[in-house]
Amino acid sequence: MHRMVGDNDLMSDAGDFAMAADVMLGRLVRWLRLMGFDVLYSNRWEDAVLASVAARENRWLLTRDRDLLRRYAVRKHLFITSDVLGAQLRQVLANRTPDPRRYFTRCVRCNDRLVPASSEEVCSLVPVHILRTESDFHHCPRCRRVYWHGTHREQALSYLDEILGTHQH
Ligand SMILES: [Zn+2]
Repeated sequence: MHRMVGDNDLMSDAGDFAMAADVMLGRLVRWLRLMGFDVLYSNRWEDAVLASVAARENRWLLTRDRDLLRRYAVRKHLFITSDVLGAQLRQVLANRTPDPRRYFTRCVRCNDRLVPASSEEVCSLVPVHILRTESDFHHCPRCRRVYWHGTHREQALSYLDEILGTHQH
């Protein structure tokens, strides 16, 4: 395990690595949640709310907004330097090896942990051809969105392989 000096050193600490992200980072948030990370995000939060949520819950604040960092002293923060999704993901994960066993365990919209669902529970929400070929379903307890294995999942994994330079799936 390699460690780096400075602020980022804190990011390699063990634990859940919970985060909160500013409104400019919606796409990054969805990908981090897809990888199983706990990331709070709301496009309705004022900067002050975001900063206080991050501090209160001891979360890393991810932001593209230097002004926000100047106005609110958030000790655990990571200034995201790029507008490009792949570079943003690499920056967040620089000292943090993602765990593929946690991929697809969280709703990308709500951040809630997914729970297993039976074919009967999801039959009205899933296309018939999927019901015929898949049996392993999960859904979000908040928004009820249904998740299953399939091509979108394979595409997501190959994208992650590409940008993270991993080939372990
Ligand atoms: Zn949801």
